[in-house]
Amino acid sequence: MNQSVENLAAYDVDKIRQDFPVLDQQVRGKPLVYLDNAATSQKPKQVIDSIVNYYENDNANIHRGVHTLSERATLSYENARKTVQQFLNAASEKEIVFTRGATEAINLVANGLAETIKQGDEILITAMEHHSNIVPWQMLCKKTGASLKVAPINEHGELMLEEFEALISNKTKFAAISHMSNALGTINPIKQLIDQLHQHDVPVLVDGAQAIPHISVDVQALDCEFYVFSGHKLYAPTGIGALYGKMEQLEQMAPYQGGGDMISVVTFDKTVYNKVPYKFEAGTPNIAGTIGLGAAIDYVNSIGVDEIAAHENALLNYAVVQAKRIDKLRVIGTAKEKGAIMSFVLDGIHPHDIGTMMDHQGIAVRAGHHCAMPVMDFFGVPATARASFAMYNTHQEVDALMAGIENLIEMFG
Ligand SMILES: *Cc1c(COP(=O)(O)O)cnc(C)c1O
Repeated sequence: MNQSVENLAAYDVDKIRQDFPVLDQQVRGKPLVYLDNAATSQKPKQVIDSIVNYYENDNANIHRGVHTLSERATLSYENARKTVQQFLNAASEKEIVFTRGATEAINLVANGLAETIKQGDEILITAMEHHSNIVPWQMLCKKTGASLKVAPINEHGELMLEEFEALISNKTKFAAISHMSNALGTINPIKQLIDQLHQHDVPVLVDGAQAIPHISVDVQALDCEFYVFSGHKLYAPTGIGALYGKMEQLEQMAPYQGGGDMISVVTFDKTVYNKVPYKFEAGTPNIAGTIGLGAAIDYVNSIGVDEIAAHENALLNYAVVQAKRIDKLRVIGTAKEKGAIMSFVLDGIHPHDIGTMMDHQGIAVRAGHHCAMPVMDFFGVPATARASFAMYNTHQEVDALMAGIENLIEMFG
């Protein structure tokens, strides 16, 4: 037995489920089947406990405090930064900036580039981006006179690589690309794209919001300038996320917000900014959330990202095989490389009705445009229903999903 098979055999989903209190409930008289993980994942008790422990024992404001509680809070906060650094294999913990989430991290970078991007410059994104990786760049373009270029996707929801490359020119000054699409599940060949962009000296931001719970990330191996993610899709609380940036990029960038903690000297004439990463962390941060993020990463590491991905991919493959048996079901997003997301439509049933009717059966799936309206336009659908899998989902839950879909089709005739 090779290592990965052995690990998969050792994967104890029942034991994992016991760590997630929220999963143990009935919804509308049926056991909850939570398949909306790409919108937010549930939190293990280890994460919940870390937050309760912080508030019960250590709560104080961080940095500059000389008293014991402040020292403890600061230590826990900075330890979480080290945990994120190691998780991403960043060269230094100073390259980790805590943000409210992926959205704020992207806005922070787009804002920081406002002084370097000029009229006539181009910013390159792809047609599968989340609104959070579109709108901040549109705003930057509006501010600077730059223009936004969008690399197209094919009918499987894969990036068209030749067209992508053809859009890179000496006008291209920045690129922002999702590692994994939230609407389609597509995983981009991100290392290859980064290398191509670097041949033209184009800095790259990778939107890792969807990839981070499913793919081991090594920012030094990727060599991207920026990598962003949210904690809440990684079993951590909402309201916390991180920006990785290469030190030289972060040092050049203007701060995002002004306030406490991001300064070293303030007079009414001028302010000297604090060092990176504090320059980007104005005001009292989400200390409890940061500690929760550290605990979530420890939890994920205790199981293993690759082991989690293998389990989820098995669920996805199982779901896709079952889905093929349902004539009226069409999967949207059939990329060769994809993560544990199945977006689908049913002939003659509006996706919103799918969402509501599934809930009546205790099954939580998302229905909507998934913050990716251009993707919906491309596939000619107003919305899709989306089932997305996490470490605690089971094959029985996939069976429940399929039975739920078949019930629906029967009801709608
Ligand atoms: C969820 C998501 C975002 C935005 O994350 P927030 O947590 O809402 O800030 C950005 N990009 C992708 C691909 C996502 O899935």
